[in-house]
Amino acid sequence: MTETKYAWGHAGRYNDFPSYFRRKFTERVQKISVDAGFTCPNRDGSKGVGGCTYCNNNSFNPPYCSPKKSITQQINEGIEFFKKYKTQQYLVYFQAYSNTYASLEKIKQLYQEALNHERVIGLVIGTRPDCISDAVLDYLEDLATNYYISVEYGVESANDEALRFINRGHGYKEAEQTIGNTANRGIHIGVHLVNGLPFDDKESMINNAVMLSRLPIETLKMHQLQILNNTLMAKQFEQEPELFYLFEMEEYLDFIVDIIERINPQVMLERFINQVPEGWLIAPKWGIKNYQFVNKLNNHLKARDTWQGRLFVD
Ligand code: SF4
Repeated sequence: MTETKYAWGHAGRYNDFPSYFRRKFTERVQKISVDAGFTCPNRDGSKGVGGCTYCNNNSFNPPYCSPKKSITQQINEGIEFFKKYKTQQYLVYFQAYSNTYASLEKIKQLYQEALNHERVIGLVIGTRPDCISDAVLDYLEDLATNYYISVEYGVESANDEALRFINRGHGYKEAEQTIGNTANRGIHIGVHLVNGLPFDDKESMINNAVMLSRLPIETLKMHQLQILNNTLMAKQFEQEPELFYLFEMEEYLDFIVDIIERINPQVMLERFINQVPEGWLIAPKWGIKNYQFVNKLNNHLKARDTWQGRLFVD
């Protein structure tokens, strides 16, 4: 086949989100994480206590992020943190915990403070699928007429047994319904999956990604299951390691290609692995950076002469 045949109109073998992002904006746009001090219904008792078994929000929060600082201060420190990229425009990434879990009034105040910053052109909002009201969606729909507004839903698996095991506190159906409610409002929709949860096997993980790719989502982020320090999962792993299937890196690479060739070619792929800072990770220790994995992935797709959606059945 010739490269021009790819359904997303550029030469790469998968529909990669970073390329889309570079084409969409005339200059480099950087995401700046902030911790706005939200909690989550799986921690404060309304859905559960103790959280999802793998959850450790400290493992990905950049050093300048702290709910003790205002949103504006975190944005300014984030700009300083990324200054080597000479970026002029930023998206504020409400990442830690569930960033739509508060009153509408509080949510408006926090988002508006971010959008009032002169160099901010939009928001990326991470949350749970059971944690966003129609009133918040209406508000985001309004914002999306003037700003880039993206909501990232942590779906994690389409297999309810796996979701129960990790104490997720919601099922897959809720995710499907919420994605449907978010669609057609001008809001960019991203979803997140974890590959390797107990009760998921390779077949069901592929199925998770294929099912989600049929929904009206724009981007898919996936990463390998990682056992992190200071989590309930770390204790379970110590006591019953046989419950967990942790991929070897080369095996995971091949598995990601199996997923890519089966999912909808219209869905953009944003991430395949997770990296956490030294000290947080118990297993698996691959020691590979995201860009190195992406290079390997491109070579692997080429070696298998395959591409996104080659086996997708509409
Ligand atoms: S992973 Fe998200 S939903 Fe689960 S406990 Fe942590 S913050 Fe809450």
